[in-house]
Amino acid sequence: MYDPRSKCADRFIDHEEIMDTLAYAQAHKTDRELIDQILEKARERKGLSHREASVLLDCELEDKNQEIFSLAEQIKKDFYGNRIVMFAPLYLSNYCINGCVYCPYHGQNKHIPRKKLTQEEIRKEVIALQDMGHKRLALETGEDPIHNPIEYVLESIKTIYSIKHKNGAIRRVNVNIAATTVENYRKLKEAGIGTYILFQETYHKESYEKLHPTGPKHDYNYHTEAMDRAMEGGIDDVGCGVLFGLELYRYEFAGLLMHAEHLEAVYGVGPHTISVPRIRRADDIDPNVFDNGIDDDTFAKLVACIRIAVPYTGMIISTRESQKCRERVLHLGISQISGGSRTSVGGYVEPEPEDESSEQFEVSDKRSLDEVVDWLMGMGYIPSFCTACYREGRTGDRFMSLCKAGQIHNCCLPNALMTLKEYLMDYASEDTKKKGLALIEKEMADIPKEKVRQIVKERLEKIEKGERDFRF
Ligand code: SF4
Ligand code: SF4
Repeated sequence: MYDPRSKCADRFIDHEEIMDTLAYAQAHKTDRELIDQILEKARERKGLSHREASVLLDCELEDKNQEIFSLAEQIKKDFYGNRIVMFAPLYLSNYCINGCVYCPYHGQNKHIPRKKLTQEEIRKEVIALQDMGHKRLALETGEDPIHNPIEYVLESIKTIYSIKHKNGAIRRVNVNIAATTVENYRKLKEAGIGTYILFQETYHKESYEKLHPTGPKHDYNYHTEAMDRAMEGGIDDVGCGVLFGLELYRYEFAGLLMHAEHLEAVYGVGPHTISVPRIRRADDIDPNVFDNGIDDDTFAKLVACIRIAVPYTGMIISTRESQKCRERVLHLGISQISGGSRTSVGGYVEPEPEDESSEQFEVSDKRSLDEVVDWLMGMGYIPSFCTACYREGRTGDRFMSLCKAGQIHNCCLPNALMTLKEYLMDYASEDTKKKGLALIEKEMADIPKEKVRQIVKERLEKIEKGERDFRF
């Protein structure tokens, strides 16, 4: 039976509850009165239950759908303003003993060269990333206790934080590694990671087991309960996500929100971020064999409904998506994007020839970070390289309470402007720099408190003179 407080995956992601939710949502897809009530509740910006949000996702009333999109847009503005936080993935190793049928790194794939970066190679990758302007990374590695044990991941994190090339520094390392033990999560916490990210792939247990036929990842419950172990190990910022296209998106949507409800119910803090990847082409993988792919319209609706259902949770979109698609969903709720990404091991130092790809997935948005920054500013967004919160100890429920009180804003905007200025001074092209400086000038007026504005002004001048790493 469904119980969000249970620590057993079968209870907090209860299949029957999802099926009932989907039937309920279908039965009410044109129920104007109920949809109005849900929208009314959503306007309070305190979120929605998985059932309520599922009704909005299924809504077939055109005017109400427009209201859903406008509300998502408004919530995005209220909570995240026009800032977009930038990050890049860093692939450490593609050795993997799992059999995920949608991923080219699965153990049986003999076409791709297997590679694991040495600490010296990591140094070079990180310098290349720093020279682009990145400050925030997401570490990625396959599951392989021999090639990629936890000690390797910990050593790599230490290496990454230690590299200071010119004005470069990686200030936040988020980690996306396979489900592991409480003890290992504790070690990751001690190593100073930001968010622990683990995609569920699919919440549908039966499909999950078929899609992961071999390896430790086959164990649905162990995988689904990973965030609980991470929280027990002291990591209070966790990032969830599903791989859209594997199962029916309505099912995944309800499961994702139930997972968030579970974390909130047991640990008092929901996921820090939700990622919304869609399945992409890669070596040995043809997305057409997965017949649950979703079109761009449905994808936009999903993003909008997630934004409304969990307003305090950041939303991430990667370079899997095209420029056009990213443009469409940014204003509906996305708060973090990657830029200039390489999705192969060692790809920042040595980009791979297109026909010999060993990327984990095909990158759709291939522009450089400078181009992405320029594009964002052209649309009125402020690209932010901020990493302040976890460095200031604002994690878990401390972070969430500031978010819920609407106060995090007071830190985000000044930090965005200061880190953007650093980027412009150190890495931007002339054209991007010109646009960025004008944008900072304009956005300064939006800092509400005169005292804070004055401090930011002084710090911007210091950045101009060569000082770095100011934060609120
Ligand atoms: Fe391995 Fe992760 Fe790919 Fe699965 S998705 S095969 S665990 S790298
Ligand atoms: Fe994120 Fe915190 Fe920086 Fe805001 S101040 S952008 S919440 S790290």
